[in-house]
Amino acid sequence: MSDAQFVEMSAVDIAAGVRSGAFSAVEVVTAHLKQIESYDHEVKAFVTQMSDRALEAARAVDEKRARGEELGALAGVPVALKDNMAYRGVETTCSSKILRGWIPPYTATVVERLEAAGAIAIGKTNLDEFAMGSSTENSAFFPTRNPIDLNRVPGGSSGGSAASVAARFAPIAIGSDTGGSIRQPASLCGVVGVKPTYGLVSRYGLIAFASSLDQIGPFARSVEDSSLVLDVISGHDERDSTSLSGRSYDHQASDGGIEGLRVGVITEMMDGLSDSVNKALAQAIESLRSMGALVDEVSVPAAKFGLTAYYLIAPAEASSNLARFDGVRYGLRVEGKDMNETYELTRGQGFGPEVKRRIMLGTYALSAGYYDALYGKAQKVRTLIANDFDAAYSNYDVLISATSPTVAFEFNAKSDPLSMYMSDVCTIPSNLAGHPAMSVPFAGDEDGLPIGIQVLAPSFGESVMFKVASALEAAAKYRAVPQWASTEK
Ligand code: GLN
Repeated sequence: MSDAQFVEMSAVDIAAGVRSGAFSAVEVVTAHLKQIESYDHEVKAFVTQMSDRALEAARAVDEKRARGEELGALAGVPVALKDNMAYRGVETTCSSKILRGWIPPYTATVVERLEAAGAIAIGKTNLDEFAMGSSTENSAFFPTRNPIDLNRVPGGSSGGSAASVAARFAPIAIGSDTGGSIRQPASLCGVVGVKPTYGLVSRYGLIAFASSLDQIGPFARSVEDSSLVLDVISGHDERDSTSLSGRSYDHQASDGGIEGLRVGVITEMMDGLSDSVNKALAQAIESLRSMGALVDEVSVPAAKFGLTAYYLIAPAEASSNLARFDGVRYGLRVEGKDMNETYELTRGQGFGPEVKRRIMLGTYALSAGYYDALYGKAQKVRTLIANDFDAAYSNYDVLISATSPTVAFEFNAKSDPLSMYMSDVCTIPSNLAGHPAMSVPFAGDEDGLPIGIQVLAPSFGESVMFKVASALEAAAKYRAVPQWASTEK
């Protein structure tokens, strides 16, 4: 097996090969580390690489096999972790200056579960600072580039994770999705990205942005791989009080066709799409029909207020969550003449402009006199959105839309905050409702840039969501290839 073959391999195939002894975990990890060394100076997906630890962990997997012990579902599979997940002993920054140098004393539950299944963490990936953004340009360190076209953004905020999978640095990666941060970069990089039902995956060890919306999920190059990863990371965790007991996702349950399934295309999400995205959505509808699904348009009226409600609720929660970064307990501390000045200097220098904007927005929305009119009203809209989705799901098994209204854009293309916020119009409503949704690569535009289709399902509807995603994947005639590989040919 050559290095080139290893980096194209799926997680399912890697784990099977390592378990059977067809090849070793060390060979797999070495091939991926070489790929990172060859191309990450261009992509810049990683904030921190974990090469030595990864090789050590790979050797441990191989030794376990040599001793005849049982290997897990992800034996020897390299995984890239968004740098807002704690990993004991490894710097965790949220791509913010305020956390530079912070070494967590504990590991996120999701990471523990991945490692228990034999997966090998190979590095921490870049993000928009504190996961606020849609392009990874808000990272305090450097922007990540889209492997499919290096002049374009990978999306965000989990841009480094999406890019690492698209660049073949790892077959799978982990991200977090508060308003679209897994699905939108997945769409822009031509990979699969899943936001599970709220509470299905533990948030313990995920540095909080907006706790009532944040959810961790996988990136992969196939629907099957993403389903397997969700199986591994889902399930109750007593260390996260919002984690649901008695619920986990079963990878085996997502097999089967879509004959007779009722698919609704969300009317409110058909406006404002670029021509190429519109065309891809129309093709997706055609494909689903030809495979026997019953496809219709359906209105989810309150969805059009999603963006507005989100930009009150998410900043409000962020303003509270980010209060802990005060120069006393974590990371950066800029000394002032007294405590107040120390807070001011630390937060003034430690946070970037977008994070400050959110803190101010959120503090305003929560302030006495505005609370009811802003935050309170946004919470009511949130309920309306959930109700409208429920009404739609009484007639449809799943809903679909485009994931992002456009393909990957160029750097500095969206200088005003609102145009950046618009990247998430189609993804935000699922977070507000707490429902699962995923993006599956479906088509390329005339320049070969990836376009993803979003599949949405009611709470715990992951199995039917994956079925529809698999059908779209099977019908897709497009596969995203890194820029260097397409020019080599
Ligand atoms: N782009 C959205 C934001 O900036 C969503 C981010 C996310 O899901 N973390 O808030």
